[in-house]
Amino acid sequence: MTRYIFITGGVVSSLGKGLMAASLAALLQARGYKVRIRKFDPYLNVDPGTMSPYQHGEVYVTDDGAETDLDLGHYERFTGVASRQSDNITSGRIYKTIIERERRGDYLGATVQVIPHVTDAIKDFAQAETEDLDFVLCEIGGTVGDIESLPFIEAIRQLKNELGRGRSISIHVTLVPYIAAAGELKTKPTQHSVRELASLGVQPDVLVCRAEKPLPAGERAKIAQFCNVPASAVIPALDAPSIYAVPLQYHAEGLDGEVLRAFGIEPGADPDLSRWTEITDRLFNPEGEVTVGVVGKYVGLPDAYKSLNEALVHGGIANRVKVNIRWIDAELFENGDDAEVAANLEACHAILVPGAFGSRGAEGKIASVRFARERKVPYFGICFGMQMACVEGARNLAGIAGASSTEFGPTSEPVVGIITEWMSKDGIETREEGGDLGGTMRLGAYPAKLTGNSVVASIYGSEAISERHRHRYEVNTGYRDALEQGGLVFSGMSPDGMLPEIVERPDHPWFVGVQFHPELKSKPFDPHPLFASFIEAAVRQSRLV
Ligand code: GLN
Repeated sequence: MTRYIFITGGVVSSLGKGLMAASLAALLQARGYKVRIRKFDPYLNVDPGTMSPYQHGEVYVTDDGAETDLDLGHYERFTGVASRQSDNITSGRIYKTIIERERRGDYLGATVQVIPHVTDAIKDFAQAETEDLDFVLCEIGGTVGDIESLPFIEAIRQLKNELGRGRSISIHVTLVPYIAAAGELKTKPTQHSVRELASLGVQPDVLVCRAEKPLPAGERAKIAQFCNVPASAVIPALDAPSIYAVPLQYHAEGLDGEVLRAFGIEPGADPDLSRWTEITDRLFNPEGEVTVGVVGKYVGLPDAYKSLNEALVHGGIANRVKVNIRWIDAELFENGDDAEVAANLEACHAILVPGAFGSRGAEGKIASVRFARERKVPYFGICFGMQMACVEGARNLAGIAGASSTEFGPTSEPVVGIITEWMSKDGIETREEGGDLGGTMRLGAYPAKLTGNSVVASIYGSEAISERHRHRYEVNTGYRDALEQGGLVFSGMSPDGMLPEIVERPDHPWFVGVQFHPELKSKPFDPHPLFASFIEAAVRQSRLV
């Protein structure tokens, strides 16, 4: 029997609902249950693929090629369950489907309305592909009271009623602010928010109360009384020293037990949380530290590099070291000024150039590649960072002064360019040079074949890998010979040999560029091998300087 947990947020946004959902799923999993988490986004974009990272943070890509909300990254990192397209829906996607159906005449002349058509679509989405699951956690984006989330709350209300007793519960995440002048935590915003939710027909079963200070028993009792839940179902949630401490913290506050009780299930024995105690032990008791310079574009907004940030932390967990990330704006040395480059990168034990779109900052990234190569500092180029490593090699070692990417405009030396046809698991795929921005990229998991004696084959311990992609341009194999003469080895290719997937420099302590996004698959309990190896190289580097 599949049970449903609906998660809403109240009072303010950014309360960590996604992290709460991911942590609760991890706790249920530790009790032996099979779980999946879904995200409902009330905005009208079809997916976040075309949204600016400044607006929305990172776009998280799934194996099946969906561009999704970054919360799906948390879900996957905490549960190890690979997210799918069917785990993220937006109002935009729902309306698009409904309007397409309406145009085809599928509604047979009926008036198409929010209730029942939109709410039915939301309910179908919540229940699709859930047969083998014990719990489906559905997180509703936004805050209760937003106009655009109303159809979602209404769909929850209907679904709770249709599923019947014991099949669904609702968790409301709220804020209990601390008013310094009064020296008190205030429960009124929570009372109002729960009243608002209840007025829409959804009575929460469990309240998760984010607070800066411990919640005194009296306040807990007050919230319970006014919000119509048992005091034990008022779960305090204080800030945690690391996101990976959150599952343990919620367990200590009794969240998983309370959720099971709300379903009428006796929690029984404690879950096995050894995975989480091991991770936090490694995080909080490091044996050293390294500094990694990330030369990027959206460096003022860590959410834009969420998975990358986490994968670097995982690399630290693997090596039992603390990873300090120095976010460096590539535009600082856009003019390639050597002294400026050195001033920014000299203190780094390793340098990483992450994914990016557009020409802004590209020259600064190319200068960073050169610095890393010449100074023999470990270098990791991801997607755009691999492309720029190839441009740098072409310009400075293969004598192709005009080497560039067609992404920056017409060029006589397209070392990086658009490939309009490639093989996927479903046969030949094509894309047009001037196609729509949404959905014209090579997206999702693609296999790659690694050269037997390469550095990356030994890092992966395998010659066959599968990694997630999100890009429009590819390194042009027409330049392979020239680049290889310049010392860059093409050690990973698509199985048909058409698309470069990995380049490396065997004459360098650690220099790897990958066309895909390995950070999307890294987990704290299973750090990605490339990140573990990169941080290991940074540790070696830190002993040299
Ligand atoms: N802008 C480059 C491309 O589209 C790289 C994309 C990325 O780094 N994700 O190919």
